[in-house]
Amino acid sequence: MVVRLSQLFLRTLREDPVDAEVASHKLLVRAGYIRRAAPGIYTWLPLGLSVLRKVERIIREEMAAIGAQEVHFPALLPKEPYEATNRWTEYGEGIFRLKDRKQADYLLAPTHEEVFTLLVKDLYSSYKDLPLSIYQIQNKYRDEARPRAGLLRGREFIMKDSYSFDVDDAGLDASYAAHRAAYVKIFERLGLEVVPVTATAGAMGGSKSEEFLHPTEIGEDTFVRSAGGYAANVEAVTTVAPEAIDFSNAPTARVLDTPDTPTIETLVAASNELAPRSEADGGEWTAADTLKNVVLAVTLPTGERQLVVIGVPGDRAVDLKRVEANIGAFLPVAGEIGLEAANEDDLKKQPLIVKGYLGPGLTLDEPLLGSKSSTKLLYLVDPRVVSGTAWITGANQAGKHVYDLVAGRDFTWDGVIECTEVRAGDPAPDGSGPLELARGIEMGHIFQLGRKYAEALDLKVLDQNGKQVVVTMGSYGVGVTRAVAALAESNNDDRGLVWPRSVAPADVHVVAVGRGEEIFAAAEKLSAELEAAGLEVIYDDRPKVSPGVKFGDAELLGVPTILAVGKGLANGVVEIKDRRSGEAEDIAVEKAVDYVVNAVRQK
Ligand code: ATP
Ligand code: MG
Repeated sequence: MVVRLSQLFLRTLREDPVDAEVASHKLLVRAGYIRRAAPGIYTWLPLGLSVLRKVERIIREEMAAIGAQEVHFPALLPKEPYEATNRWTEYGEGIFRLKDRKQADYLLAPTHEEVFTLLVKDLYSSYKDLPLSIYQIQNKYRDEARPRAGLLRGREFIMKDSYSFDVDDAGLDASYAAHRAAYVKIFERLGLEVVPVTATAGAMGGSKSEEFLHPTEIGEDTFVRSAGGYAANVEAVTTVAPEAIDFSNAPTARVLDTPDTPTIETLVAASNELAPRSEADGGEWTAADTLKNVVLAVTLPTGERQLVVIGVPGDRAVDLKRVEANIGAFLPVAGEIGLEAANEDDLKKQPLIVKGYLGPGLTLDEPLLGSKSSTKLLYLVDPRVVSGTAWITGANQAGKHVYDLVAGRDFTWDGVIECTEVRAGDPAPDGSGPLELARGIEMGHIFQLGRKYAEALDLKVLDQNGKQVVVTMGSYGVGVTRAVAALAESNNDDRGLVWPRSVAPADVHVVAVGRGEEIFAAAEKLSAELEAAGLEVIYDDRPKVSPGVKFGDAELLGVPTILAVGKGLANGVVEIKDRRSGEAEDIAVEKAVDYVVNAVRQK
C-alpha cells in the first residue's frame, strides 16, 4: 500500500521540542516518529513504528539464524522470583513496584533472567533438552535516575533479551560465541557502527561480558582502545601494575613537619623544599610519589551507609564509576550501591581521621586504616601500590606527613581495586600500545551469567550419567528502541533525518510538486508502479501544499530516495534525489521506476 501523506497520521513540527538535548530526540519528535507521553516514556507514531519493526525484523532473523526461538513474557510480574535472586532489593529505586488489589507485590520487569530460568525449569529436565536459546522482544521498565536524550535512555524501552541454557561451560562458551557473532551481524545490517568492548561483571554476577558500544560524542559510556586492538569500557580496564620491589634496604619511614599541606599540591611543593629528593632518585618529588587516601561513603542496598578509604597515587583522581563497578567483592551485601565522597557528618563520626593528613598508619602493628585497624575502615588501594613502593602520605596529625612509608613493610590493605581515572596514553593491559579514550552508547550487552541464576532458582538437569547438574546460563540484550535513536543520532543533517536503507520507513518518497492535474496523475502512477515493483512508497499527494513545505518535509522524514514530479514532466523527466549525498538527477519518466529499484537494490 502506498502511504499517502494526505492520509498519514503525521504532523511535522518546525520547532525543536524544548526538553530535547540531542539531535535524534529533536528530529524523531519533529519528524513525527515519536511523541513524549511522560518523562522517558514515548508513544510510537506510524513512521516510528515502521522503523522500529524493521530493526526488530533484522534482530529476529539473526536470532533465528543461531537457532534462538522467540517467546514472550509478561512485563508485569510477581515479586517472588526476583526475591529469590535478591534483585527485588538489589535494584533499589531502579524499578517500578506495584501492588495488586490483594496487596501482593508486583514489578514491571527491568530484565527477565528469573522468569526465563523458571520457565526452563518448568519444562525441561534433561541434558538432552539442551542447549537452548530463547528470546523475546519486549517492553522493559526502569526508573532511570536521569531519563534523557529521548529514546536513548527511556524509562519504558524495548529490549531484545535472549538467554542461553547449557549443561556445561563449553556449551556456554559456544552459545556466547554464537550470540556474539549474531550481534556483529545485527549491527552490521542495521548500519550501526559498534565496538565490542570488555565489560565488568557488575551487579549481574557471572564472568565473561562484552558490551557493544556505538562510538559517539553524546555517549554516556567512556571506553578505551589501543591501536593494537584492545577495547574495554573504562570500568573494566586493568592497570599495568609495577613489579613488587625488594624493600630490605629501603630507608626507614620518618615523620616530618609539613605545616599547611592539606592538598597534594601544597604537599609536593613543601616536600621539595623541606625534604628534597636525592638526585639519584630523580631529583624532584611529584604528585605520583604521594599516597592520597580518599574517604568514600557507600550506601548499601540495605540503605546502610558505610565508609571506605581508597589509597591512590596523588597524581590520579578516583573514578567513582570504576570504584562502583569493582567494589562489590569487598562489600557485605551484593546489589546496586550509592557512592559519593564522605561528607562532614561522616567524618565527624571518625575522630581519628585528620582531614588532609590521612594515612594508613606508621607501622604494621598500629594501622589506622583497614578492617583490622583502630578505625576498622575498609582500606582498598590502587594496583600501583605494590609491595615495596615507598610513599609520602598523611601521618594522621595535622601538619605532619610521613616519608618513605613502604607498602607491605609499614602498612597493608584489605584489597586492591581498579579505582583511578584511566588516562589517554596509559598502557593497554595486553601490551598492545597506549590507550585512547572515546565515548559511546551501549547498544548491546552479552554476558556469561554462569550458574548464579540457575542456583538461586534451582534449575538442574540430569546429565549423561544420570547426575543432577546445575545449568549454566548466558544473557544477551539489545536495546531495540535505543537502536532506533542511535541510528537517528548518527544519520542526520541540518535538514533532518537520513535513514540507512535497512531501516528507512520507506524506500522512496514521491513528491508531487505544483498544481497541474497531470503532475498528480503522473506521481500517482509512478507511486503505484514503484509499489508494484516491491518497494515501500510514501507519496506526498497533499494538494495546496507549497513545494517548499513538501521538500522540507521530505528531507525531515529522511527517506533515502526522493522522487519529485514537477515542472520537468513537460519535458518527460522527473527529479530523483539521493537524500544522503544530496545529488539530484533528471531521469526520463519511463526509466524512473527502474532507476529507483536499482538504487534500492544497491543499498
Ligand atoms: P546502561 O548502562 O546504558 O544503563 P544497562 O547496562 O543498564 O544500560 P542492560 O541491562 O545491559 O543495560 O540492558 C541491555 C541493553 O538494553 C543495553 O545494552 C541497552 O542497549 C538497552 N537499554 C538499557 N537501558 C536502557 C534504557 N533506559 N533505555 C533504552 N535502552 C536501554
Ligand atoms: Mg549493560
